[in-house]
Amino acid sequence: MKSIYGMTMEKLEEYFLSLGEKKFKATQIYEWIYQKRIKSFDEVTNIKKTVIDKLKEDFTIDRLDTLKVERDVEVCKYLFALNDNERVESVLMRHDYGTSLCISSQVGCNMGCRFCESGRLKKVRNLESSEMVLQILQVEEDIHERISHVVIMGIGEPFDNYDNFVDFIKIVNNPKGIALGSRHITVSTCGIIPKIREFATLPFQVNLAISLHASNDTLRSSIMPINKAYPLKLMETIKEYINKTNRRVTFEYIMLDGINDKLENAVELSNLLSGMNCYINLIPYNETNNIGYKRSKKSTILKFYDIIKNRGLNVTIRKEFGSKISAACGQLRSKKEDL
Ligand code: SAH
Repeated sequence: MKSIYGMTMEKLEEYFLSLGEKKFKATQIYEWIYQKRIKSFDEVTNIKKTVIDKLKEDFTIDRLDTLKVERDVEVCKYLFALNDNERVESVLMRHDYGTSLCISSQVGCNMGCRFCESGRLKKVRNLESSEMVLQILQVEEDIHERISHVVIMGIGEPFDNYDNFVDFIKIVNNPKGIALGSRHITVSTCGIIPKIREFATLPFQVNLAISLHASNDTLRSSIMPINKAYPLKLMETIKEYINKTNRRVTFEYIMLDGINDKLENAVELSNLLSGMNCYINLIPYNETNNIGYKRSKKSTILKFYDIIKNRGLNVTIRKEFGSKISAACGQLRSKKEDL
């Protein structure tokens, strides 16, 4: 059975119309589930019982099981069980500007980036849009506060689960739904070109981040297999995206000792991105037990930063979160035995 949390407003309106009911019932249901946060359809008081009974027949209103929450000062990591007992993780971060929640989009991931723990397990399945929505709802309920920012940077490649991702954005962005402004949502992709093109046509101002991690094709292909299908020609698509949407793109670049952190890589990267409306986010690599890569030295990261900065590009070094509880980028897993 479908989950009610996966229904966009339009789909729910169509559903009520198909029952011969007025479509504003969809708004009423949204208010019950997203504002009043009911746990059972029986709590709905302004819709007649026959319609509620039909809803119960057609949709579940179940939550995910929260199996584990690990709390640290600025970070909390949540482990959720899905209805088929697959698992995903979400990470909450506290910043001075608010809270951000990093959510997963798939169980496992097929992109196979060599440095990433999350991708060691192949994709088991896509997450339903409801399973993405529920990660937000349940963390909000756990902390008794609204989450101000959402990043789709957990396990999975969101553009390999594009339709569910788009429904998720519609639900979260709807003023009667979770009502999170699209500028407060960031999606990260390893660069699936056709989906970036489609994404450019969406009427949402969702931020786009690209996991770049290398300054030339040979290097990128050696650490990110996806580069064979979608090489750095990708930049043309991103330029089209920027022209079309007028939005700034973020490029993520993890710093791997001796692999992509040579000073000539910084020069090459600056040349690749110069003149683009973008930010470069240098990410100190989070080492994991199972993968041999090492984090670049601090002094190397600073030199790399200076080269890019001096060439007039916007560059930052990512603040680190969550490595103590294995909640940092690239450390999330979905493999049951590991958890
Ligand atoms: N598949 C999407 C969404 C995942 S985002 C994407 O590739 O963008 C997760 C980010 O963390 C990606 O930029 C990824 O490359 C990065 N990452 C993976 N392993 C990491 C690690 N060990 N340390 C730091 N960042 C890592």
